[in-house]
Amino acid sequence: MNLLELVDHPRAKGEATLLRDKDELRAALAPLRREGSSIGLVPTMGYLHEGHLSLLRAARAECDAVVMSLFVNPTQFGPGEDLERYPRDEERDLRLAAEAGADYVYAPPVAAVYPEGFATSVAVDGQLTGVLDGDPQRRGPEHFHGVTTVVAKLFNTVGPDVAYFGQKDAQQATVIRRMARDLDFPLRIEVLPIVREPDGLAMSSRNAYLDEEARRRAVALSAALRAAETVSRSKGLAAGIDAGRAELRSAGIEPEYLEARDPDDLSPVTELGDRPVLIAVAAEVGSARLIDNVLVEP
Ligand code: AMP
Repeated sequence: MNLLELVDHPRAKGEATLLRDKDELRAALAPLRREGSSIGLVPTMGYLHEGHLSLLRAARAECDAVVMSLFVNPTQFGPGEDLERYPRDEERDLRLAAEAGADYVYAPPVAAVYPEGFATSVAVDGQLTGVLDGDPQRRGPEHFHGVTTVVAKLFNTVGPDVAYFGQKDAQQATVIRRMARDLDFPLRIEVLPIVREPDGLAMSSRNAYLDEEARRRAVALSAALRAAETVSRSKGLAAGIDAGRAELRSAGIEPEYLEARDPDDLSPVTELGDRPVLIAVAAEVGSARLIDNVLVEP
């Protein structure tokens, strides 16, 4: 699609079609697919921020049609997690999604995604879902099984040519890439950089939980990652991780983890070498569980 077509596109002028039924969505997309249009999918749980919008804009720039899914997926929340209080504002999301270029917003009810008798799970097993957030002491592999099951369903419903995810959820991106490869989903997965607040805090819908004091302290996560990267480059990875911990400690934050891992197989890494290294952090700050990461390039 050329630029003029893009500007003339009715959706670029701020409209998006809200669909709650998968058959209606399929029916809307079928003629596009027949005429050879490319379809981009941006899966979200809503309460949109600039991170989500960056994915939508990328999809808009690269694909003929853009679908954003808006679904707070209960199966990826553990007992005692924040499913009930997860922030929601569908009206605002619709407006922002349309402005960023979404043609369709697919927001199905929970009962339609998981009808009575639902019994199937798509699970990436092993290290990819058993470490970091997948550690049974933390969110556990079930969290990722919830993610891969719903994303597989979205891939089947939408049939995108390209699906867009954020590096913010680095482990999720790794797991989804593996699922798509293992199950031969015929699509390309794009993982886009983390969008941050001016002070460095990674944008997240969960930042809405932060009170003023917690918001001030939360900046320590990105500061810790920056310190970890800088010190790793001069004094080695172990010293870098120590520097990151010190940064967190100075903000009164005890992380769930601050670890260096291989971004593809999530195996532990102890030295910087000739491959990128993922340094990832998770911590409870105030009443929000936050995650962030940096990819240290060789
Ligand atoms: P969520 O609504 O939190 O499930 O996120 C939907 C998508 O947006 C996921 O692919 C996230 O990785 C991505 N995302 C969330 N926050 C950011 C951010 N700060 N920068 C870039 N992508 C993000």
